[in-house]
Amino acid sequence: MPPHLDRHSGSAVIAVDRNYVPMMEIARRKAIRAVATGRAFVLDPATLERHGDFRAAMSLIIYPHAQALAESKLLMGRVERRVMKRDHHTCQYEGCGNRATTVDHVIPICQGGRTTWQNLVAACLSCNQSKGGRTPEQASMRLKRIPRGPRAHLFERFEAILKEASAA
Ligand SMILES: [Zn+2]
Repeated sequence: MPPHLDRHSGSAVIAVDRNYVPMMEIARRKAIRAVATGRAFVLDPATLERHGDFRAAMSLIIYPHAQALAESKLLMGRVERRVMKRDHHTCQYEGCGNRATTVDHVIPICQGGRTTWQNLVAACLSCNQSKGGRTPEQASMRLKRIPRGPRAHLFERFEAILKEASAA
């Protein structure tokens, strides 16, 4: 199963830093190991208090000492590779289902566009070339969705877990 599907299956555990800010999703097995070795603690999503039994419904864990490490991990890796992963290696231009082999600047650099998560999308070579140095508007092309930052889905899942716990 590709990693992006696994991530949405609900089996991954969200790790938060000492300020309860979600920092990453990690595999359940890895989360159990971190808790068993005392590096992390299970959180009860209803109260955000530490949970005694780590084999209970584990959806959140806290790394009280790992804030610095988490930040460096988030910044690791080339942004292009991570944009490809975010966009599932699929061209992000509307009406195109091609596999993406390039990363396109939505607002081209020559028009002041920057190399940021919000300005980069996965694109197939054909869309990228026909768009050229134009904005999507100038090229009469539309994006399938607004490009998001690296942790957007993480915050969404975190909020869903908290909401579900408080409703129970
Ligand atoms: Zn395309």
